[in-house]
Amino acid sequence: MEKYFSKTTDEALKNFDVTLSGLTSTRASEILNTVGENILNEKEKKSIFSVFVEQFKDLLVIILIIAAIISAMTGNMESTFVIIAVIILNAILGTIQYVKAEQSLDSLKALSAPNAKVIRDGVKIEIPSKDVVPGDILILEAGDLVVADGRILENFSLKVNESSLTGESESVDKFSEVIDKDEVALGDQKNMVFSSSLVTYGRATVLVTNTGMNTELGKIASLMESTQEKTTPLQASLNDFSKKLAIAIMGICVIVFGLSIYRGTDILDSLMFAVALAVAAIPEALSSIVTIVLAIGTQSMAKENAIIKKLKAVEGLGCVSVICSDKTGTLTQNKMTVKKIFVDNKLIDANKIDTDNSDVSFLLTSSVLCNDSTSIDGNEIGDPTEVALVNLAHKYSINEIECRNTHERLKEIPFDSDRKLMSTLHNIDGKNIMITKGALDVLLDRVTSIKTSNGTNAFTNNDKININNTNRELSSQGLRVLAFAYKELTEDRELSLEDEDNFTFLGLISMIDPPREESKAAVSDCIKASIKPIMITGDHKITASAIAKEIGILQDGDLAVEGLELDKMSDAELNSKLKHISVYARVSPEHKIRIVEAWQNKGKIVAMTGDGVNDAPALKQADIGIAMGITGTEVSKDAASMILTDDNFATIVKSVTNGRNIYANIKNSIKFLLSGNMSGILAVLYSSLLALPVPFAAVHLLFINLLTDSLPAIAIGMEKSKRDVLKDKPRDANESILTKDFITDICLQGLLIGIFTMTSYHIGLATGNHGIAMTMAFSTLCLARLFHGFNCRGKKSIFALGVFSNKFSWIAFISGVILINAVLLIPVLQGLFEITPLTTNEMLLIHLLAFIPTLIIQLVKVVRGFIETKNETVNPNNIDNDKTKAHAA
Ligand code: ATP
Repeated sequence: MEKYFSKTTDEALKNFDVTLSGLTSTRASEILNTVGENILNEKEKKSIFSVFVEQFKDLLVIILIIAAIISAMTGNMESTFVIIAVIILNAILGTIQYVKAEQSLDSLKALSAPNAKVIRDGVKIEIPSKDVVPGDILILEAGDLVVADGRILENFSLKVNESSLTGESESVDKFSEVIDKDEVALGDQKNMVFSSSLVTYGRATVLVTNTGMNTELGKIASLMESTQEKTTPLQASLNDFSKKLAIAIMGICVIVFGLSIYRGTDILDSLMFAVALAVAAIPEALSSIVTIVLAIGTQSMAKENAIIKKLKAVEGLGCVSVICSDKTGTLTQNKMTVKKIFVDNKLIDANKIDTDNSDVSFLLTSSVLCNDSTSIDGNEIGDPTEVALVNLAHKYSINEIECRNTHERLKEIPFDSDRKLMSTLHNIDGKNIMITKGALDVLLDRVTSIKTSNGTNAFTNNDKININNTNRELSSQGLRVLAFAYKELTEDRELSLEDEDNFTFLGLISMIDPPREESKAAVSDCIKASIKPIMITGDHKITASAIAKEIGILQDGDLAVEGLELDKMSDAELNSKLKHISVYARVSPEHKIRIVEAWQNKGKIVAMTGDGVNDAPALKQADIGIAMGITGTEVSKDAASMILTDDNFATIVKSVTNGRNIYANIKNSIKFLLSGNMSGILAVLYSSLLALPVPFAAVHLLFINLLTDSLPAIAIGMEKSKRDVLKDKPRDANESILTKDFITDICLQGLLIGIFTMTSYHIGLATGNHGIAMTMAFSTLCLARLFHGFNCRGKKSIFALGVFSNKFSWIAFISGVILINAVLLIPVLQGLFEITPLTTNEMLLIHLLAFIPTLIIQLVKVVRGFIETKNETVNPNNIDNDKTKAHAA
């Protein structure tokens, strides 16, 4: 393997036959074809065959095989055949579900895969990281994820965090010079960067030397587990529940079997009883229904601009009770326009600037020089704050390219949101001038003189008061204010943070960043949903408060707190004020962690947005870390559990609504499955206790559990997102899905269906033909469960939910009814499913008996809905009360 750290940059470039203008796209694709994509081979995926085989390792399948053997022993070969066919069909369906869910996770992963900036055909472009090839010229900037190994060609104060490789948590300074040694440890190869490292500061141009499995990361990749977790807490707890339930059921089966034998029933018949009970009771679809509903849910969330990176975030979203959001770009449009400038103690409208004034023109020139953005022919690249400055200059015929060529940038200290400043060094009229722009409160304390029309004067207290008053006036209009200052250096030398002092004040530039139109409604939705929205911003307190008031985050009695004040607060003090603080201004990313932790200590589930490189720890600390898809750094996206592709606060609220709905849908599907099973169990137990003959054959229960029950369960999971859920309080994260109400509903609804199934069974028994009784019990149970699918669509009656609003539930119902009627009426199927033909009257009766439980459940829902609406109208203050409660979270 080549040791690029010991090669000069020219030698390295020569090795790949490439220059700083990068590869041509043709050559890049040739290399891509030879070396392959820049990806790590993940832990080997299970083959479809092994997934298929795994489906047979299920408790239910074992019971079914026992049932098949017993059926064969009793001479019922058709039943044996049907059971085996159903087992195979079930395995095929299970395999398809698994593969689909995997595909859906993979497509989500692809959506959140990182991009890389490279130079191809002489132009800087952004490409998916998988397309990066050895020989590419990679551009790294603060916040980027290093996507391949490479030799640094040009270095501008690059600092990289390599902890994922070396374990060293501090960022390391890099350089581009040769290391003249034979062997150098990875952590000391300071002229190299390695895949999976994070750029925390500065920028660099890098020659890609290795990609994919050939990178240092690739070498250890075989030791790494895939990061995508496969089971969510809900799935895990349901799996656990299923296991416990299965054991309990086995116990009951043994008792039922013993009871039958004790009564002198034939051994095989007794076994059939036990098997029927087991088949009726085991909720085999439980875990897979969660997977399917989560997969469907995350796909539809992706269409609504929220990419879920960690599945458990979907469940978490339903519990969120605090949303901490950045202001700029998330609550506001991030479309900045300069409104006013302040020079020489005068506030000037941005439309009425006189560039003949040398101070004004110096301010505009400085705003273009100390600036990384470009805005050429409407093509805006860079930070919108900076783009606004370039646009202002253009308006007054200052050409950014000309200006930057005339006064070339010699050195720089990049902007970072902790320091809130940016400095650049230029040659202006033969002098080395350092221009600094940033937050006024940070800059003002470092000013010692001021530029006015009378020349440069000492900075007086009056000047300071004047500037602060102007700042207050501008900020209270919601304007973002940037301050500009400069100083002369004696020589062209590297800049250090100590240089950012002893400035001459130049002026202020203020710009408007209007709130997003949707923000106000989204904030009000939050409050309705008992979620506390909080603004956390690097901007000035007055600006932040003005915007927060406009969109409803800062209400009467709420507090706005600055980072500095927060530093002075003890934990106890913060804790007591926490509920009332709606705006945190002038905060650094470190403050975000303290805010999240304070809320988490109160037992709240916190969603937090972040876009910068320093936001990663807070995003990890939050229960739901949310990164910005458009403006967010790769580092923040890497740390987040969800990415907003539109950077919009309203999308977070929509996602919370979706999270709550997905959870409700899963819960409803589970209720449907468990209440249906409950009715089967009760019917079998009832017959066993009353010493009646067994009411169902194993194939009957199989038919219901595996064929007619699956579709309605999935249809319930696909119920459309309802805004109604916003009226509820956030779910308690520690609350088990099996709440008392939930279990009561399952038992009562199961009992109701069980009663009508047994009524049908008794009517059948009265004919003196056990075959008719079994057929009637089976078909009533099957149809009742199909009807029951409508009951489980939501809390409300089907009329309130919209009779036809879920077309899938109708498809599931109609296909189920067709299936059961086919089995009842078609002679071949009758034979296979142990059906005794019924008369027309009996057919009508089973449909009627099956419908009655749903009729009763729906009537109860209609009455309950009526009472609830009446209560709401009687006490209209309810909603306001809720709002106040919510705001106090
Ligand atoms: P958010 O609400 O997303 O935290 P923000 O943009 O206000 O957004 P930062 O980007 O951390 O937060 O900016 C903090 C402060 O730093 C701003 O209020 C501004 O005064 C100053 N600032 C912002 N961008 C620049 C820049 N490019 N150069 C110099 N100073 C800047």
